[in-house]
Amino acid sequence: MKKILFTIIDGLGGRPSKQLNGKTELEYAKTPNLDRLSAKGVNGIVDIFHGVAPESDEAVLTLLGYDLKKYYVGRGPFEAVGIGATFKNGMLALRCNYATSPDGKTLADRRVGRNLSSKEAKILAKAIQERIKLTNADFIFSPGLAHRAVLVIKAKKSLSKDITNTDPAYGIRHGIPEALPKYDMVIKECKPFSKGAKVSAELVNEFTEKAYGVLKKHPVNVARRKKGLLEANVVISRDAGNTTPRLPKIGESWAILADMPLEVGIARIAGMDVIELPLPTMTKEDYTVRVKKTVEAMKKYNSLYIHLKGPDLFGHDGDFRGKVKSIEDIDKYFYRPLLKKVNFDDYVMLVSADHSTPCSVRGHSGDPVPLLICTKGIKADSVKAFSERECAKGSLGRIKGIDVMRTVMRYAGMPSSRFGSNPKLTSFKESERAKFREY
Ligand code: ZN
Ligand code: ZN
Repeated sequence: MKKILFTIIDGLGGRPSKQLNGKTELEYAKTPNLDRLSAKGVNGIVDIFHGVAPESDEAVLTLLGYDLKKYYVGRGPFEAVGIGATFKNGMLALRCNYATSPDGKTLADRRVGRNLSSKEAKILAKAIQERIKLTNADFIFSPGLAHRAVLVIKAKKSLSKDITNTDPAYGIRHGIPEALPKYDMVIKECKPFSKGAKVSAELVNEFTEKAYGVLKKHPVNVARRKKGLLEANVVISRDAGNTTPRLPKIGESWAILADMPLEVGIARIAGMDVIELPLPTMTKEDYTVRVKKTVEAMKKYNSLYIHLKGPDLFGHDGDFRGKVKSIEDIDKYFYRPLLKKVNFDDYVMLVSADHSTPCSVRGHSGDPVPLLICTKGIKADSVKAFSERECAKGSLGRIKGIDVMRTVMRYAGMPSSRFGSNPKLTSFKESERAKFREY
């Protein structure tokens, strides 16, 4: 049995654009190290989730092989577990953003111009925690990275999660969140969509209103205004959850290296250990540290899930050059040194993305993402470069996100025992089995 290096580059996929001479961001970027891996391995493209634009949580769960219909319980609980907040079933957890509003109702920016420091976020969170009291309920408001935060509300009785988002950019369809292509820049009123959720909705609205009261005159915001920066004066929320999903264990001896609480939370619930990382600084040093930590972790654990943030942020900002550079940096400063340390006799390496974040879309899209799997003895296909269009010609073809983990586990000769409860996923036909004997 081999070990797995499961590496995911957040928002890597893109679309051809005239700004990049008809190429996608990944095609345009110089990625000699990833190209070499593609040439030595097998390649394909992945429809993460039925061609819709997935959120990172849906995408990550799917890539790890968990069926959303069965396991998705809202993003809030994953985020709460990810930052180590106390969360128990019956509490209500929501993913929040600090945002900017001129009047407490309309929104000027959903992310405070993306330049709120984690230190400022922490000071504001402390003020919220100390000065707000909710009717018949307690809460914990924990800042995450930059504008991101998590709210956990606890009442005497169990709280329902059937409420709408106050963040206008996301809707909920069949219990699964979706990024909306168009929306009004207003803070939505939180509404219950089942009878029992009235209390939850009222608590969220009460929190939203009181948070504005605390934040609008806070010294951090006064200082930001003076510097000409956007104020973090409102909190918008989404993706409520009231249970921790019971994910079957991913396997023996797995660990995660990731920056965001969301990925960490999912991994923790899936039974992975968490490798602590310093906060990203968006410089090449980030990758040097991550390579070092990866190499150390390879000695201790069998398999690693490494989630690299970067291209997604530039995709959201529509910054073509920034995204291209971010991809080139990852190739040069992460994969290049790491590949020198990986013995492919023992390891299977996977490189893919959780979703596309094309600069032309400025958000996530349902475009399929490239996938490569490389190990010693694998029967390489004819793909010579790692990109959306090249990988599409590879021998893995076009596969579903839910099949990615199973596929790489087979190349590693690992039993995919965590799929045990789902016979559709564990048993595959002899003809399929034969395919995987060829290397
Ligand atoms: Zn993502
Ligand atoms: Zn994103």
